[in-house]
Amino acid sequence: MKHGFDIAERFAGGAQYIAGELRPGTSGARHRVVAPASGEAVYEYELAGPADVDAAVAAAKAALPGWAGATPGERSDAMHRFAAVLAEHAGDLAYAESLQCGKPLKLTTEFDVPGTIDNTAFFAGAARHLEGKAAGEYSGDHTSYVRREPVGVVGSIAPWNYPLQMAAWKILPAVAAGNTIVLKPAELTPLTSLMFAQAATEAGIPAGVINIVNGTGKVAGEHLVGHPDVAMTSFTGSTVVGKRVAEVATATVKRLHLELGGKAPFVVFDDADLEAAVHGAVAGSLINTGQDCTAATRAYVQRPLYDAFVAGVAELMATVRVGDPFDAKTDLGPLVSHVHRDRVAAIVGRARAYATVVTGGEAPDSPGAYYLPTVITGAAQDSEIVQAEIFGPVLVVLPFETDDEGLALANDTPYGLAASAWTRDVYRAGRATREIQAGCVWVNDHIPIISEMPHGGYKASGYGKDMSAYSLDEYTQVKHVMYDNTAIARKDWHRTVFGDR
Ligand code: NAD
Repeated sequence: MKHGFDIAERFAGGAQYIAGELRPGTSGARHRVVAPASGEAVYEYELAGPADVDAAVAAAKAALPGWAGATPGERSDAMHRFAAVLAEHAGDLAYAESLQCGKPLKLTTEFDVPGTIDNTAFFAGAARHLEGKAAGEYSGDHTSYVRREPVGVVGSIAPWNYPLQMAAWKILPAVAAGNTIVLKPAELTPLTSLMFAQAATEAGIPAGVINIVNGTGKVAGEHLVGHPDVAMTSFTGSTVVGKRVAEVATATVKRLHLELGGKAPFVVFDDADLEAAVHGAVAGSLINTGQDCTAATRAYVQRPLYDAFVAGVAELMATVRVGDPFDAKTDLGPLVSHVHRDRVAAIVGRARAYATVVTGGEAPDSPGAYYLPTVITGAAQDSEIVQAEIFGPVLVVLPFETDDEGLALANDTPYGLAASAWTRDVYRAGRATREIQAGCVWVNDHIPIISEMPHGGYKASGYGKDMSAYSLDEYTQVKHVMYDNTAIARKDWHRTVFGDR
């Protein structure tokens, strides 16, 4: 089946989207977008330099009064149209996302794109539902109320693993709350963020409300984070880069939202439905070729189920069809780049010295950046393979004896983004959901996300929430307004500063 459209023609104007138009970058440095499934370049563009970031921030600043001054209903109407335009372009979005990331078309068609359309529809509704305390006479002599106001120009930075969804998660709550935004996607995957912004313009969201700069983190990213006209930085990416972003943002006292790395535990108690846990572990660890910050990476299995679980997962992984993302039968695509594939291979290679590779552990012979589904056992809890974020199709399985031990192991990494507990015992499930330190704990499933519920980390996985009404809080500031109701010139409280009663 023929898919897609001509990428070079579509983005002939360049890969910067500023004030409603595509433009070339001005950094003088060029970047090739390589399809990881074939290793072939599909597009080449000039990266954004500081001048492009300045232009994008200026466009966002110019658009701010009009957009912040629109009624929630007007913003909501525009965002409903945005959702409808995205639905019209669903096929092209899925194609471009699969091409630049190597994701199987069934994943982009059934998950990335419909999820993004649903997020857009959700935030169209949420735009009309900003919350605050009730107005009232809390002092007796005054009426107090809160105004929930946009923060201003938001500068956001996104990773390459879900480029379209990350653009949506950053842009939608910001613009729903009346902010304008400049988003810097990862330079490897510029295409669908541009298409997302173009769809917003097509839907009637004014030019300048949503701007995209495609450049490197060091040049365009740091310039955006340090920009004096940017009021807030929202960053999704690795913990190491997040720390650097926090340093730069702090220098200009910006509001900061950090969605960082993860190393999700998958805790299987001895009363669990073994078949469900095995299927859940394979799906939860291989989704998006394991390049998912919430992916199941550390399975802790209570001793009575341990051997059967390892055998079941290895057997099921062997049935996963690795191949061309555009083949409808493909389950698992390549990693995002050859550089990243080599990084994953190096971590697994080092693990061979101290652990057992039960299945996988190698790259198939292909020009693409493929890596086989991999199960590892026998690793020590403090080893690299258990502690470090690998971001590949690699699941480590370790046994535990008591519930106390299983939960302690689950919490024993610096990260705290997501986790799952597998049990049929409601009390065990309740304990696990209370004691696991993570921003999301699933019971008897692993991965599903929904627009209505918050996504964000504990511990070194960051702070702040994406999606849900909670994310509107990130992108608004609350102002207390207090009116005197007495019209008395010499107020009673003045005596604490001058004079007597
Ligand atoms: P990364 O941290 O290398 O890069 C993320 C973004 O930051 C990119 O756009 C990059 O260009 C930019 N960047 C790099 N250096 C910068 C700097 N000095 N200043 C400003 N920006 C800079 O991450 P990645 O490799 O693109 O993505 C994978 C990581 O993202 C993983 O750690 C994963 O867990 C994380 N992630 C987290 C979530 C979440 O919700 N918590 C979601 C998706 C991905």
